[in-house]
Amino acid sequence: MKQPISSDFKLGILGGGQLGKMLTLAASNIDVNTYVLDPNGECPAVTTCTGLTVGSFNDYDAVYQFGQDKDVITVEIESVNIDALRKLEGEGKEVYPDTNSLSIIQDKGLQKQFYKDNKIATSAFALYEDTDAIKAALANGTVTYPFVQKLRTGGYDGKGVAVLKNEADLNLLLEGKSVVEQMVDINKEIAVIVARNIKGEVKCFPSVEMEFNPKANLVEFLFSPAAISDAHEQEAEQLSRSIVEHLDFVGLLAIELFIDNNGEMFVNEVAPRPHNSGHQTIEGNMTSQYEQHLRAILGYPLGSTAITLPSVMINILGEEGYEGNVIYDGIENCMAVEGANFHIYGKKITKSFRKMGHATVIDKDLESAKKKANYIKEHLKVIA
Ligand code: ADP
Repeated sequence: MKQPISSDFKLGILGGGQLGKMLTLAASNIDVNTYVLDPNGECPAVTTCTGLTVGSFNDYDAVYQFGQDKDVITVEIESVNIDALRKLEGEGKEVYPDTNSLSIIQDKGLQKQFYKDNKIATSAFALYEDTDAIKAALANGTVTYPFVQKLRTGGYDGKGVAVLKNEADLNLLLEGKSVVEQMVDINKEIAVIVARNIKGEVKCFPSVEMEFNPKANLVEFLFSPAAISDAHEQEAEQLSRSIVEHLDFVGLLAIELFIDNNGEMFVNEVAPRPHNSGHQTIEGNMTSQYEQHLRAILGYPLGSTAITLPSVMINILGEEGYEGNVIYDGIENCMAVEGANFHIYGKKITKSFRKMGHATVIDKDLESAKKKANYIKEHLKVIA
């Protein structure tokens, strides 16, 4: 591979959302040129990348053309045109993560089957073609309440997931090919970000704990480190290592895990890219997840993942009921909070629960960081 630093090397990134933006910022720190493909000419990465191509990362021709003059191609979103990437790979382009891993991860059905085939703990599941097939399975007792239905493709941030507790919830069933999973009696939701580089070196970030917004089914707070036992921490790391090894994965993989009320751990799902559950690494760990991804795919040694200070990450979400030109009401007071670091993604329009930015509070202990993060939640309102 051509020397990526301070040269005419071109890193191509499919997607220019907030994850793409933060990836380009990390690349800029080590003077690596980044070129982004995104359908939106005003996407978050437009101000930070070396060059933006406006086009769809789901479109075969757009991705194939985009890849022609890039040295390495990576993604900040998993819903991309894999056929085009496969063609580029076949022509000798370096694509990380590889298309085999991407195609398994893109489809929640194939993902679950991968865990089962490799004896990686995950909740029991079955695959269904449509809602009629699920209703038939309910009628003959193959599926029983409560259960979770997930569309195999296209879901994100809780969209494409339905939780059915009893017959009264039947109207929540989603149309399309789906996975039906046994409901896990969740005690904690944690995440591990693991990186594997081209040479096969693997490093895990210590696990973090997630707390969800009850209305929007997306992460509101993230705590680093997670309050779990050493045994659970080791188990999470072993599961994460086993997944990247079995996939022969290169890049960053975010692993979402459940710990149930009996202390059993299950893999929920993975994402083949920097992830919401790793934002706090920018200020709270020795190496950020974004730099780690670059190290992994550009052939460098992985950085230390050690926590430097406890941290709480809060997603800055669009206030419910507001849509239009964004206003960050109350941000002055919040920026006065000691140890609070703001990342505003640059989306012009706010919508109910849209991810508009995040803040990471670092502090000497997690309890004081939590108090400060709560202050920010109470005082910062994203309105129009
Ligand atoms: P997404 O890809 O949209 O984030 P997830 O698979 O992570 O979808 O599911 C969203 C949320 O739904 C999870 O964070 C968890 O709270 C809940 N959930 C998902 N699967 C299960 C399950 N098998 N049992 C209980 N809750 C689940």
